[in-house]
Amino acid sequence: MVERRDFLKKTGMAAGAFLVTASGDGCIGRISERKSGPLKLAFKPYELQLRHVFTLAGNSRTTTPVILTRLSCDGFSGYGEASLPPYLGETQESVMHFLDSLDLTQFHDPFLVEDILDYVFKSAPGNYAAKASVDIALHDLIGKIAGLPLYRLWGLNPEDTPDTSFTIGIDEPNVVQEKVKEASAYNILKVKLGRNNDREMITAVRSVSNVPICVDVNQGWTDRQLALDMIFWLKDQGVVFVEQPMPKESIDDIAWLTLNSPLPVIADEALQAKEDVMSLYGVYSGINIKLMKCGGLRAAREMVTLAKAIKMEVMFGCMTETSCAVSAASQLSPLARWGDLDGNLLISNDVFEGVKVVDGKIILPDRPGVGVELKPESDIFK
Ligand code: MG
Repeated sequence: MVERRDFLKKTGMAAGAFLVTASGDGCIGRISERKSGPLKLAFKPYELQLRHVFTLAGNSRTTTPVILTRLSCDGFSGYGEASLPPYLGETQESVMHFLDSLDLTQFHDPFLVEDILDYVFKSAPGNYAAKASVDIALHDLIGKIAGLPLYRLWGLNPEDTPDTSFTIGIDEPNVVQEKVKEASAYNILKVKLGRNNDREMITAVRSVSNVPICVDVNQGWTDRQLALDMIFWLKDQGVVFVEQPMPKESIDDIAWLTLNSPLPVIADEALQAKEDVMSLYGVYSGINIKLMKCGGLRAAREMVTLAKAIKMEVMFGCMTETSCAVSAASQLSPLARWGDLDGNLLISNDVFEGVKVVDGKIILPDRPGVGVELKPESDIFK
């Protein structure tokens, strides 16, 4: 008891209540005794400009629409984001319609995360990116009120963050070589495959770099034997895992491939939210969790727990996003074996400062919440 009392004294905590020094408006209070004003949600559409044309097995594009959210309470503001690449089906209009339908002013305590997110998730089916934009802002808000980064609130070791891969899109060999040279700061590259030039892509990368590669086929292969032959060849080229090799509907073929593959096979398009995890057991070796697919940090944490319980590998991915959503996913990344959290590095008009990549590794900022602040020049919420 003496030791516990000493600890509480040293850390400024009193038994039965949690003394919090909050940032922002300098308010000091006890979380358990807080009397808050209502939660207020604001949101704005924004268009991300990509540094390079982004080509997947299915399409090419130069911009990504997003909705940025701000959830405020008693002078504190948390930020969130819905990123809306066209193939996911949500749009700025659908997100704004969803957010407009919510009445978060009924909640006066942002720490009732489960109640608030239950309400948000039950208000309509689907709308996962829209839900993520509220979930991220809410987690950012409670972190800011508590004055702690989320990884601290969750008890995660920031030194356990993975290296992030840097994505190399499908292109001509000379362009691929240039992009790989530009990505020399990264310890792992993610190479997009699935058109008709897979070996050419990998050979181009290997002509200028020896770092480990992971490949993302984006459902581009259709013949399982050819896929398996390719995976054996890729292993010889220093590839460490294969993401979504075949169409998500080809469940039996993918299960066969995973059984025979010398490399882990990771589900991406086959995985939306936590309801899907169990059905992928025995089909894939692991899952690629993205906040925009699953609806945010609460769902992502549940998926990590579930995947680890059934011995599936976990990686964290992202869309093209600002540093807001990427930093949010990075707060959870100490739980992942692999990180593909480079979405903010692919855009030229980020409005946030957040997570950094140093020597290829994700470095979590000390800032509270998801760890972002609006750049001073940004007037998005002014
Ligand atoms: Mg993928």
